[in-house]
Amino acid sequence: MTEANTQPEVNIGLVGHVDHGKTTLVQALSGSWTDQHSEEMKRGISIRLGYADATFRRCPGVDEPECYTVDEECEDGSASEPVRTVSFVDAPGHETLMATMLSGASIMDGAVLVVSATEDVPQAQTEEHLMALDLIGIENIVIAQNKVDLVDRDRAVDNYEQIQEFVEGTVAEDAPIVPVSAQQEVNLDLLIDAIESEIPTPDRDPSEHARMYAARSFDINRPGATAEDLKGGVVGGSLVSGELSVGDGLEIRPGREVDEEGQTEWRPLETTVRSLQAGDHDVETAHPGGLLGVGTGLDPSLTKGDALAGQVAGEPGTLPPTREEFEMKVDLLDRVVGKEDDESGESDIEEISTGEPLMLTVGTATTVGAVTSARDGECEVSLKRPVCAEEGAQIAINRRVGARWRLIGVGTLA
Ligand code: GDP
Ligand code: MG
Repeated sequence: MTEANTQPEVNIGLVGHVDHGKTTLVQALSGSWTDQHSEEMKRGISIRLGYADATFRRCPGVDEPECYTVDEECEDGSASEPVRTVSFVDAPGHETLMATMLSGASIMDGAVLVVSATEDVPQAQTEEHLMALDLIGIENIVIAQNKVDLVDRDRAVDNYEQIQEFVEGTVAEDAPIVPVSAQQEVNLDLLIDAIESEIPTPDRDPSEHARMYAARSFDINRPGATAEDLKGGVVGGSLVSGELSVGDGLEIRPGREVDEEGQTEWRPLETTVRSLQAGDHDVETAHPGGLLGVGTGLDPSLTKGDALAGQVAGEPGTLPPTREEFEMKVDLLDRVVGKEDDESGESDIEEISTGEPLMLTVGTATTVGAVTSARDGECEVSLKRPVCAEEGAQIAINRRVGARWRLIGVGTLA
């Protein structure tokens, strides 16, 4: 295969209630397990966003949808042909990790909503995640009705109708519902067919300024590496516009906090792109789609432990401003969604009030802010950690309800 069709060209989020089979489905389609961190393994949930690439292929001479596969060999022994490589972003289903799901939403071009056929619809995070897709404006959606191997026909039909009823009037109203078994690998061809028609690769303009949202950052050096072996810091994330090439200059904002004589200030970092990894390959030029690893000339101590997660990178001089406070227009939801039956607390959403803390997700950044003034449909916040964001940027607004942060609405940066 050529490099062009192994570099993923579109990001597809996997969302839905915990244990409904998101990670299993990603594994079936990509052959890799996204729960990579050892702690995630222990807890059995995807704590960080996990990316996994899958190349959809088709068997020549076979009609749609049966032609679709992820195997290199077709049933008749002939070789399948690559169609498109996509990158799945496996969002965690556990509701306390909603912020992570929302930060993933900013880099998703479409989503697969996984709904288990074994439970009533909707479960708490099925509802909450669909609401988030709606708010963030992700319209290209396919619904995978999973675990159909565990139910009889009547229950499957019943559950299918529940899903239809549930999505009525939402952004997923017209989304196809595909019955699958991720574990038994049943109907994956139908699912790929639906993704191919519902989640196209967006039109992109390579001449736009490069803009990358950092989701992770690392120090890839082994402890004790000598000065001359030391590799620069690595930033992982997704390009959302433009292209990035080895040798390009790179600015990263907000950058780092500098303390000078008791005064602290955030200063952008500036470096160059030393290497690029897209899909599993080193490339000279990267375009939007998938997880991109950017090797930089930065001191690795600046990138270790996800220190730059949530920051924005691009061509020097072209990035939006760093904001320690901002004003936003606010659209509140009608009620708190995704609440479990046994949870206490109000379901109605009160207006935002001056002084209250909010958790805000801007791009891939999550930050806590205090409301410094609130009027009808507008408020000003002062942030604990600044964000780099453009006017018009969408902000997911979360409030503490009971013991948890709950999505209460969406803001638009004024
Ligand atoms: P996630 O929390 O949504 O990522 O769910 P997982 O992919 O971790 O799956 C939760 C459990 O359901 C695991 O034990 C899977 O093996 C099981 N599972 C997932 N998909 C299927 C399926 O299609 N059929 C059956 N029988 N089990 C499944
Ligand atoms: Mg999972």
